[in-house]
Amino acid sequence: MAKEKRKCSFCGREDKDVGILISGINSHICDRCIEQAQHIVAEEKVAKGQSKVPSFKLLKPIEIKEYIEQYVIGQDEAKKIISVAVYNHYKRISQINKKSEEKNDDVELEKSNIILVGETGTGKTLLARTIARMLQVPFCIADATILTEAGYVGEDVESILARLLQVANYDIASAERGMIFIDEVDKIARKSDNPSITRDVSGEGVQQALLKILEGAVVNVPPQGGRKHPEQKMIQINTQNILFICGGAFDGIEKKIASRLKTNVIGYGSRKDKENLDYDNLLQYIAPQDLRSYGLIPEIVGRLPVVAHLNPLEKKTLKQILTEPKNSLIKQYSKLFEMDEVQLVIDDKVLDFIVDKAVEFKLGARGLRSICEIIMMDAMFDLSSYAKNKKFHLTLNYAKKQLDKTNLSRLKVA
Ligand code: ADP
Repeated sequence: MAKEKRKCSFCGREDKDVGILISGINSHICDRCIEQAQHIVAEEKVAKGQSKVPSFKLLKPIEIKEYIEQYVIGQDEAKKIISVAVYNHYKRISQINKKSEEKNDDVELEKSNIILVGETGTGKTLLARTIARMLQVPFCIADATILTEAGYVGEDVESILARLLQVANYDIASAERGMIFIDEVDKIARKSDNPSITRDVSGEGVQQALLKILEGAVVNVPPQGGRKHPEQKMIQINTQNILFICGGAFDGIEKKIASRLKTNVIGYGSRKDKENLDYDNLLQYIAPQDLRSYGLIPEIVGRLPVVAHLNPLEKKTLKQILTEPKNSLIKQYSKLFEMDEVQLVIDDKVLDFIVDKAVEFKLGARGLRSICEIIMMDAMFDLSSYAKNKKFHLTLNYAKKQLDKTNLSRLKVA
């Protein structure tokens, strides 16, 4: 007798048409149906108020900073500002939770969304990611450049929330306390100072759309992302307690800062103030009005009250980045070698060489990895054929040879 084909008892798909088919006593279920069932359970729990609000221990700013220190090198000022902002944000949430029980306090704490300004590769995303990891809240990264005003080609702003919801496994309560990093907000700056002469679909229009989610509103989100369709079932997400961190390089904003400082110094300050300014790093004086002059609309600037800057990375910092963070590149490579029972020994000069190349090719911290990959490639290729308990000694000569073999121009930034 021919063997009966195994099918999912829920959707009827055959074994060969699904990823995994799990068998019970008298029936089977496929991976897709399991996922769908999980979403239904999560939604039902929310509807019945059974979804538990994620709880976390509220760390003090100093503890938050200590945690960040393990992963992010330098950027002391930004770390401090973020630690306080995150602390206040979660204090605010706990106040809202308490308020709903007591209802007698009339001081309302406003949200402290953050904007990080600094060259690319200085650690903006890393900072946001590290905070999310510490808080163990759902976290997603969105790129402002792909967003357009509703009705135009590109993604709706709501798609960011859809992504957060997916990361939170469709647990709405958890998503509503999550974090979103919106990268490249400088790219949606208004193109000219004159608002709306022509439609500015990818600039001011997107800022207006973003405003809606930044300021805390109930937003209809298409659960699978993408555009809203009238027939699609929407999920409502309240963004009131979602912490937004925006990041951008804001190329050329130093000019705006300089001109503001000049006028201020002439107007109110003394000559001494002007002399004390560090003109090599004007970013450290960034203020909300500079973001406005750059082309962010005042309402957006108002919704991003915490402004922090990230310093360009010096050679010394780049070298520290290679070796010091908890999951630094060198520690990662050592681990990879260790897994094949090979000890990786790297000469200090090699580290300086890697840093020099990253600076030469203007790759910043992000380039450290590509350079390391090139240098280590052959060694990693041969790794499994090494005798156990051997050492791989990475010398400056070897590193130079490896780089010489490669067409480095592909690493160059235009
Ligand atoms: P940005 O968002 O500012 O463009 P990223 O945070 O994505 O930059 O940084 C790129 C990579 O460079 C990170 O994954 C990290 O490995 C490294 N990096 C950058 N800045 C730092 C820093 N201050 N400390 C540790 N690593 C850093």
